Amino acid sequence: MSFIPDFNPPSKEPANALWFIFDRGRLLVKIQDDSCSIPKTSDLKPYQTDLLHKQYLGTLDGRPCYAAESAGDNQKGKDLKSRDLRALFGKLDENLIWIAGRANQLVNWNQTHLYCGGCGQLTENKTDERAKICPQCSLTNYPRLSPAIIVAVLKNDKILLGRNKRFKLPFYSVLAGFVEPGETLEQCVKREIREEVAIAVKNIRYFGSQPWPFPNSLMIAFTAEYDDGEIRIDGSEIIDAAWFAKDNLPNIPPRISIARQLIDWFIQNH
Ligand SMILES: [Zn+2]
Repeated sequence: MSFIPDFNPPSKEPANALWFIFDRGRLLVKIQDDSCSIPKTSDLKPYQTDLLHKQYLGTLDGRPCYAAESAGDNQKGKDLKSRDLRALFGKLDENLIWIAGRANQLVNWNQTHLYCGGCGQLTENKTDERAKICPQCSLTNYPRLSPAIIVAVLKNDKILLGRNKRFKLPFYSVLAGFVEPGETLEQCVKREIREEVAIAVKNIRYFGSQPWPFPNSLMIAFTAEYDDGEIRIDGSEIIDAAWFAKDNLPNIPPRISIARQLIDWFIQNH
């Protein structure tokens, strides 16, 4: 499948256009028997009056895709149900999941930028790019991204994994954290590892990146080597951390995340 992003909608909405509609952070999907799909324009007749802040996303294999918010009454139609996007991993095609993530980011951005952060006026959508502009003071806002680093730290043939207190399930993952203003990504890697487990790292190498639309992170993944220090957990964010060999791993994150890709890379290469 090939997705081409765009912000200028076509003049007509074809009946097969795909709609990524969010209702209080949950995606509306069509559920029939055991299969789950993204609704088309023709599925939305009972919902049309409920759709707010429509945004054009681009085309998927030539089919126009839209994001929108539901005004809330999603019980009207029989087929559409709201689901947490993360619960749809493995149930929807991965391309559709990532387009839904893009839609979630844009819906969230729209909701939090309806008013100008400078003077409080209602903002307007710009027509020549995806941005919101204030008609009073011209402050322009682009869709917000929050960059975060995520890093696999290796010591000999072991990987550093920690348990974050925000994880609902008892699993261990590579460490991560948000980039601060004025910081390079490499400085962020060193600071986060020092803050969370009190060790120093070296030989930081770029691994890859992944949008993580909950609601607007961009995960930038690295590998690094242990340099100095003993693990001492911060106790507030990280409640346990240790070095794990590949044949003795704890519960690790699901396959779709870049955290898991880092751990899989470690398993394959060490
Ligand atoms: Zn303003």
